[in-house]
Amino acid sequence: MQLIKGGCPEELRPTWCRRCQSEAKFHKHGEYKRTIITIGEPLEITVFRFKCSSCNMTCSILPPFLRRNHIAALDVQEQVTLRHIQGISLRIISEQLPAQLAFSEKTLWRWKKYWQKRLDRLRSTFWPIVLARCPHLLFPRGGSSVPSSSWAWFFWVWNKTRGQWTDRPAGALQWLVLLSQPVAVTAGG
Ligand SMILES: [Zn+2]
Repeated sequence: MQLIKGGCPEELRPTWCRRCQSEAKFHKHGEYKRTIITIGEPLEITVFRFKCSSCNMTCSILPPFLRRNHIAALDVQEQVTLRHIQGISLRIISEQLPAQLAFSEKTLWRWKKYWQKRLDRLRSTFWPIVLARCPHLLFPRGGSSVPSSSWAWFFWVWNKTRGQWTDRPAGALQWLVLLSQPVAVTAGG
């Protein structure tokens, strides 16, 4: 994985400073190692830090499969989301998690709340973005194959279109994050 081995990939360098709102130069400002939890096994990643040359704000660039201040990678949160929309309670999911993924019901609840909010925020833009990118998407004809909730639709579309998104999201929640930044999703071929 590009983010883990070797030097800092140049494309990670910020080009815009959120604090001073300038197109300042960002200088490398060290790096640190973090261990995160994935579905497979713990993963050591390198987080690169940058400093704005104009206002001195520092920022850490996280890989796209990680939320800030979270130890569980998005694949873990995605699996929990998938099980929960199948009707399994967060308590049961938490109890059934393998030892290396020992997250409490409360943590799972916080994940749920966060991702629900993100999905809700896409309410008016989701279908326009999807149909602009995938105009020939074939919809289920009826019966039990029709997704019955916004999450079910979300995963249905993801499974049908996952190869077609510019930024190559590695999972559905990563895709959800990208969809919130329509510019990144619709730009390019
Ligand atoms: Zn700045």
